[in-house]
Amino acid sequence: MNDFDLELNRRLAQLKEQGLHRALRTFDSPQGARVEFQGRLLLNFSSNDYLGLANEPSLKVAAHEAVERFGTGAGASRLISGSLTPHSELEQLLAEFKGTEAALSFSTGYATALGTICALMDREDVIILDKLVHASIVDAARLSAAKLRVFAHNDMNDLANILKWADGGSRAPESSRRRSRVLIATESVFSMDGDHAPLRDLVELKEKHGAWLMVDEAHATGLYGPNRRGLAEALGVAQRIEIQMGTLGKALGVAGGYIAGSRALVDCLVNRARSFIFSTAPVPAAAAAASAGVRFAQSAEGEARRNVLWQRVGELSSSLDGASQDFQSAIIPWLIGEEEKAVQTAEALWQQGIYMPAIRFPTVARGRARLRLTVTAAHTRQDIARVADAVKRLGANLRPTSSQLPAHASAR
Ligand SMILES: *Cc1c(COP(=O)(O)O)cnc(C)c1O
Repeated sequence: MNDFDLELNRRLAQLKEQGLHRALRTFDSPQGARVEFQGRLLLNFSSNDYLGLANEPSLKVAAHEAVERFGTGAGASRLISGSLTPHSELEQLLAEFKGTEAALSFSTGYATALGTICALMDREDVIILDKLVHASIVDAARLSAAKLRVFAHNDMNDLANILKWADGGSRAPESSRRRSRVLIATESVFSMDGDHAPLRDLVELKEKHGAWLMVDEAHATGLYGPNRRGLAEALGVAQRIEIQMGTLGKALGVAGGYIAGSRALVDCLVNRARSFIFSTAPVPAAAAAASAGVRFAQSAEGEARRNVLWQRVGELSSSLDGASQDFQSAIIPWLIGEEEKAVQTAEALWQQGIYMPAIRFPTVARGRARLRLTVTAAHTRQDIARVADAVKRLGANLRPTSSQLPAHASAR
């Protein structure tokens, strides 16, 4: 073995020692309540396909039609010749769906965060992140070279102190080409804890300090609010958030990310977001299917799916330990702590035909390993009963994580 591979094998061995090694598992079926693995059907509680759209006929038809009309590849980046009708239709639809002047789509949510934050912020600016915000936003903030501060999860006092510090600093010298800016970035429904950000308080605070706010609705788009726009809509603050981000690969069933906001924001991103400019446009089939996903989410059928989803979440909560449980989202963390133990617990469930993955560092902090259970509208009442029974037998302690907001029922 050469020196390169020897070194990498040493690193892999280290990961194994720490219970942090990961490997791919290949499933042989579409996403759904059940997935097939090596000839075996597993009850799937691992996916973000909240509305069960990833294998939905109307989305598949839209993808097929786009392939027929526009082919497989976009051929170039959006600013060269890759901007096709399905892309602009999707963006028009997203703007209408979100109730904003404009929207821009990206090939992934990760690319959305990276491109957007780096387009808006640089070394003269300050970015303030919630401690638990998604890796894409952390990486974006680092790449932007802005000064980085982190506030304790959902802790508005901590955030207020950092904002006061930022107000006091005269970071931009006289000669600077523009005023330095402060951006706060958070998620609305947190991806690994399932709790809510106190968006009303956040909006008040950022307005008081003249900061900008970016909210990632990856786990809320299609699920919350009268028009299913997200948690910001449910809480009545969407119009006061400068940068609304979301993904197209979770409840909307396809792939990609989006930014919804003002025309000026979108025009700036088209000119400055490097992950948008220097990347081949998403395949037309993805854009067309995502449009069908947005339409589905807005339809009566979408509302029916959402109702089923919350009904299943409620059933899980009551079968676990009665009325004291009240989950704020379809993401239910089972906190275990030790990495090795989380893996063993996931393995025990897998043996019983239930797939609920162990989530470990670096996705969550060290010593905060957990199993992450996600409920979808594709699950039946019996599926929920079965998983509740299995986790109870393994001695689970599934608790809604802390948040300053009332539980989901009032926010939806
Ligand atoms: C999944 C996710 C992303 C990344 O989106 P992809 O489309 O999967 O790249 C960004 N933010 C949050 C909160 C997410 O959960």
